[in-house]
Amino acid sequence: MSASPPDLKARATSKAAGLPGVKHVIAVASGKGGVGKSTTSCNLALGFATLGLKTGILDADIYGPSLPKLFGLRGKPRQLGPRMLEPMERFGVKVMSIGFLVEEDSAMIWRGAMVISAITQMLREVAWNDLDILVVDLPPGTGDAQLTMAQQVPLAGAVIVSTPQDIALIDARRGIAMFEKVSIPILGLIENMSSFCCPACNRVTPIFGHGGARLEAESRGIPFLGEIPLDIQIRETSDDGRPIVAVEPDGIHARRYIGIARDIWTAIETGAAHRPPPRIVIE
Ligand code: ADP
Repeated sequence: MSASPPDLKARATSKAAGLPGVKHVIAVASGKGGVGKSTTSCNLALGFATLGLKTGILDADIYGPSLPKLFGLRGKPRQLGPRMLEPMERFGVKVMSIGFLVEEDSAMIWRGAMVISAITQMLREVAWNDLDILVVDLPPGTGDAQLTMAQQVPLAGAVIVSTPQDIALIDARRGIAMFEKVSIPILGLIENMSSFCCPACNRVTPIFGHGGARLEAESRGIPFLGEIPLDIQIRETSDDGRPIVAVEPDGIHARRYIGIARDIWTAIETGAAHRPPPRIVIE
């Protein structure tokens, strides 16, 4: 009788298992912090919900969970059984974050294994139930958490958020390379803080440059999903726990987020996401 090597078998099982009741899982990633990844994840999730999709969002940013604040949520999730938690819910989106479960500073010192265990639990021991799409807000960078996601869940694809300038794009490139390495389709690149329109004089200023992410996407053959401007309303509503897509769904910014959500959904449903090119292996 031949037995398959335990590590390979475990990997195959976890890949195949998926998440019960969840149709698609997508990751939102960025190469570095502070580019607006969580703000974008939150508004995209609300965009999916606005399209009538049953939506959840998981805050996998263990070292800096910001979804409780973005969604204006406090308190602890309800326990449904010995090993099952009920996600919180706001604006029609199911939300789970390590920020609901541990004191703000305690996760900061966790090592890789603890981070992996926490993310795995939040994926598998939360009653996500019946969802069309689960958005996972990944921590910035290309470390353990991202690789865990890639190995634990069959991701429909990854969205990369970047600001337009070179320094942020260099980091975004690392993120793209990481997903390509583990064969996860890239759903596209979003340029956040793309330009600033002065509310007093209407003059547009490209504070962090403009168009860098579009050029990067074009040169790599990756879909460019759109630009989100640097805007005080986006910042204020986020900090207030009233994200712009929830409070002003017909406004100019919300319409952009919803449009991007629609394009992502279409790409997932039609299988049109960018796949890494086949590799030629010379033996
Ligand atoms: P990250 O998740 O990449 O670390 P956040 O989403 O936490 O970044 O955003 C960092 C800060 O930038 C927050 O204060 C947020 O409100 C602000 N921010 C994000 N995107 C925009 C935007 N398009 N316009 C204005 N402020 C933004």
